[in-house]
Amino acid sequence: MFKVSWDKDTGGIKLNSRVDSGTLGISPRPVFYEELDLLKLNELGWSYPRSNDPLLWACNKQYFYRGEFVFEVKGANIYDAPTVLLQPDFQKLELKPIDVKGMLQRCKDEMFLLESEAIEFIRGVYVQYSSARESVERVKSNRMDYESLVAKLEKQTKQKMAIVKQDCDSFDIMPLDNAKREGKKTYQTTNIDKFLASFSGGKDSQVVLDLCVRAIPPSAFEVIYSDTGYELPTSLALYKEVEDYYKGKFPELRFSTARNHETVLNYWDKIGTPSDTHRWCCSIMKTAPLYRMLKVDGTNKQARVLTFDGVRAEESTRRSEYVRIGKGVKHDTVINARPILDWNTTEIFLYLFRHDLPINEAYRHGKARVGCVICPYSSSWDDMISNTLYKPELAPFLSRIISSAKKGGIKDVDDYIKDRKWKFRAGGNFLESDSSISFASITPNLKASILGAKQKIETWLPAIGDYTITASGKTARGEVKFNNAIYSFLIEYGERSNNFKFTLYNVNDAQLIKLIKRVLHKTTFCIKCEACEVECPTGALSVLPDVKIERSKCIHCHKCLDFHDYGCIVANSLILTTNTNMKAKSGIDRYNTFGLRGDWIDMYLSDTENYWGNNGLGTKQVPAMQNWLKDAEIIDGKNEITKLGKLLVQIYQDRPQLVWEIIWINLTYNSFVAQWFAARAKNNITVTKSLLMEMIQNEFPNIYSDRTIKNAVDALIRTLKESPVGEYTVLVQADSITRIAYNDLSEEAIAYSIYRYAEAHKTKMLRVSDLYRQDEESGVYVEFRTDKSNLEKALRTLNSSSNRVLVAELNMGLDHITLRDDLTPLTVLEELTK
Ligand code: SF4
Ligand code: SF4
Repeated sequence: MFKVSWDKDTGGIKLNSRVDSGTLGISPRPVFYEELDLLKLNELGWSYPRSNDPLLWACNKQYFYRGEFVFEVKGANIYDAPTVLLQPDFQKLELKPIDVKGMLQRCKDEMFLLESEAIEFIRGVYVQYSSARESVERVKSNRMDYESLVAKLEKQTKQKMAIVKQDCDSFDIMPLDNAKREGKKTYQTTNIDKFLASFSGGKDSQVVLDLCVRAIPPSAFEVIYSDTGYELPTSLALYKEVEDYYKGKFPELRFSTARNHETVLNYWDKIGTPSDTHRWCCSIMKTAPLYRMLKVDGTNKQARVLTFDGVRAEESTRRSEYVRIGKGVKHDTVINARPILDWNTTEIFLYLFRHDLPINEAYRHGKARVGCVICPYSSSWDDMISNTLYKPELAPFLSRIISSAKKGGIKDVDDYIKDRKWKFRAGGNFLESDSSISFASITPNLKASILGAKQKIETWLPAIGDYTITASGKTARGEVKFNNAIYSFLIEYGERSNNFKFTLYNVNDAQLIKLIKRVLHKTTFCIKCEACEVECPTGALSVLPDVKIERSKCIHCHKCLDFHDYGCIVANSLILTTNTNMKAKSGIDRYNTFGLRGDWIDMYLSDTENYWGNNGLGTKQVPAMQNWLKDAEIIDGKNEITKLGKLLVQIYQDRPQLVWEIIWINLTYNSFVAQWFAARAKNNITVTKSLLMEMIQNEFPNIYSDRTIKNAVDALIRTLKESPVGEYTVLVQADSITRIAYNDLSEEAIAYSIYRYAEAHKTKMLRVSDLYRQDEESGVYVEFRTDKSNLEKALRTLNSSSNRVLVAELNMGLDHITLRDDLTPLTVLEELTK
């Protein structure tokens, strides 16, 4: 909050309310002798006392002594110590400890202001919400669910609403802007069951806890420490010390520790190493156990909690967006209040010094964060410290990373670990899961095959809606109700009942498809990790000792299905790819959301030379158009017109339809989304945008973000709607498209398509039946869904034409096509359009 500058007299820092020439860009952290020992400064010619007080300061990896930059460190990793680069004038140095007392004396006014403001904030929030709770208990008419009403009104009015308190001890809801204008105090909820200070073993939560005991009665809140199972030993020790210290002073303050029912190592073995994209550990080891502990006494329902947390805006850009009181930041039923949101790192340490509070030992050794002993988000520096100081605690996790890397065929495992590549795992967790799921089709019938299901499908099905099921021998039939429609399903069991096929008939509701898939993922992979249980607002769902949804309590809100991709955090980590021949490509949304429009091509082909200087396209449209043209093979990588492009210019005026046919053929080879649509959208299938998105997500799990898929699908749909391609290939309805057969395809395009197909398959001979194979993903049928009889008619014409470009033998049961060796797709088109 305050600006920080060096104070040479004390060797410490000063806090100022204004920026001046000495203001530091980064707030420094204190450095203790333990960190200097770790860096072996004592062996490099420095001498320093082993004092309790800090000796110098660090801003990132640069170290400062009494305002002078004295050394920096570079290149640490889990196995290697960093290189220490001493500044020329500081090769030898005798350090004196910082005069902490003197520094605190100089900062006392600023720290007083800072602390008083935070205490005021905590007290204000506590009084506001505890008195709201009292008035709800006291006044019957206040016992309304104001939060749900706000949510409903916001949906209806499309504006932010707020709960406000009226003078007469009642609550009201009004637009947030009006409430602000009228200076009303706004409430996130009227119903807080518990107040909490969450403790993590880190310096920020330690400061918040101390502020809380100074601001509100210790009996009014509780402290919960989430022990993830791979906490630093110093954090566990600090928690014990903190608990003893406050319990000694305030026996009524309640402390508890939340832990998952299983060890973290078990989860590593079952789910795989956590990573940047699969950060299951926070949800499973920290959040879920914490919220399970916060259920309303005697029920399975989540309590409404207001937690004072130690989040600070300085910590990360994402955190910078946090507001000081936020609802549902991490969980729907939790309000987060952030007393130290604007404090900087230095102020946090000053607070600990000022109140003589213990400091997590790990900070003294230079750890910037005191999270888990290993973490996908930790830095190389933190990894180096962990592997130096906490080797035994780190060893079981490191050995698992090493063995899974070896199993995955990683050649240089040391480098893989040093470069922290394991943290970036998007798919491929190198685990051999005994459960798997694959989807043979999505619509009109959703068909899935499941092997080694961990749960019965009836366990999770109640979350969707009411259903019935009747078993008979190795099959079971049933019906499930969704959005006032009834859908039938069939389950065909294998030898073992946890291997089965599931079919849901006649479904084209994208929402239902998504939810059923999530139910199937949960059924296949659920190992009762606890993570989704705490999403259930009614307490209908419990996962221990066995997964159960109480049908009478389930309101089909789908929160347990929607809380994560795949509806299950474990499935998300274990699912790699489904059976697809199509390869995922990068940059599938390189057209942004722009389609290839008919008028763009019209303008371009009418004046290719001057087009880029004068086209009326917006700045984002130009690269989109260029990418479409590249994929259509009209321009090359340098945006120069290709030979094919020049040929299309020549024929465009007389044969625009042929040009569009060629464009579409090329797009089905080069544009991921066009290729995918051509191959997957079968004849007469009607699809909505969300269904297309769901189908891509299903086929390429863990590969593309929802936004990327949405952009690609938007661009495709716009191309179909805004160019002649759509006229040939689909029927466009208001919010859906239906794939149709195009039987007027020109013979030139058929010849071009066949040469293109043969080129891709490196052959000069093919059969008509090849093009109509069920699993075929390219060729004239995939591109245009042209009937076989129409294709054969066109082939006969080409066969008998004077400039014969192919031989088609289609009589007496033959369906052979032989192509000329001397022709390519381009030259065949030149030949036929001479
Ligand atoms: S369904 Fe998945 S997320 Fe939910 S408890 Fe089971 S394993 Fe955990
Ligand atoms: S989260 Fe919603 S759908 Fe899931 S069990 Fe609870 S009430 Fe039912």
